[in-house]
Amino acid sequence: MAIIIDGKKIAQDVRNEVKEEVLRLKAKTGIVPGLAVILVGEDPASKIYVRMKEAACEEAGFLSREYKFPADVDEGKILSIISDLNRDDEIHGILVQLPLPGHISSDSIIEAIDPRKDVDGFHPYNIGHLFTGNPFHMACTPLGILELIDRSGTGIEGKEAVIVGRSNIVGKPLALMLLARHATVTVCHTRTRDLPEVTGRAELLIAAAGRPEMITKDMVRDGVVVIDVGINRLDDGKLVGDVAFQEVAEKASHITPVPGGVGPMTIAMLLKNTLNAAVARSK
Ligand code: NDP
Repeated sequence: MAIIIDGKKIAQDVRNEVKEEVLRLKAKTGIVPGLAVILVGEDPASKIYVRMKEAACEEAGFLSREYKFPADVDEGKILSIISDLNRDDEIHGILVQLPLPGHISSDSIIEAIDPRKDVDGFHPYNIGHLFTGNPFHMACTPLGILELIDRSGTGIEGKEAVIVGRSNIVGKPLALMLLARHATVTVCHTRTRDLPEVTGRAELLIAAAGRPEMITKDMVRDGVVVIDVGINRLDDGKLVGDVAFQEVAEKASHITPVPGGVGPMTIAMLLKNTLNAAVARSK
């Protein structure tokens, strides 16, 4: 039976470390990390995420500011707030909660953020520098996945890593990060010809497809380390990942649960990115 990688505990450890670092930074420089969150519209899931991010900021001793707009707000209004926040010395991170309503271009909004304050790591500047190996910020979910692997002590260098999913927020940036850490990386998607054959080669398997329990035990090899990014709500309300947890855990050496695996890491890494931005500002 696999060792369970406890994302909830690891995320709390990261948050505690951030909190201590905030105290040190404040004592030394007087700087308090500040995060501005922009929320447009009334999407219930987005509202919950924003509330969770603000609570995490408060717990860590950050300054947290929320900017709320109705769903029909002008794009120009959001761009103007971002321009103000770019120049605001109290704010080190700017986060625009996605998705945005259809009349607002997410690309234009993200590109308006100062890359040094782009704590989500979505700005083309940061993505471009991820490609060349030296980004200022990296996307929070893939960064959280690396942290989980590192803290589980299972290693990355030289490993055969397979990622199922090639989205811009998980699969693609994660592939670059794992490559930078010297894994041999394969990225799968819906056109992958023989998925079980590819996943069966993985020593490190990351499932980020958004398909409930699609990774079954016949698709993995003994001793694989499995990171399950998927969050899928079934008709009966149950939350499951992309991995059939019970049966895959029988073959894996390590596995993350859903919930309580990758999910809690995303906010922890958002705090870490904001702290890093504040530290960089202090130098
Ligand atoms: P997207 O829908 O943007 O991308 C899904 C990817 O998976 C696509 O590349 C798609 O391939 C691929 N895929 C889908 N079905 C299959 C299949 N049957 N076989 C092979 N590949 C497949 O999803 P996201 O990356 O945004 O999210 C993925 C999952 O991770 C979701 O469940 C989401 O909720 C979760 N998530 C969790 C986060 C967290 O904090 N824990 C954060 C972000 C996401 P193709 O490109 O060919 O269409």
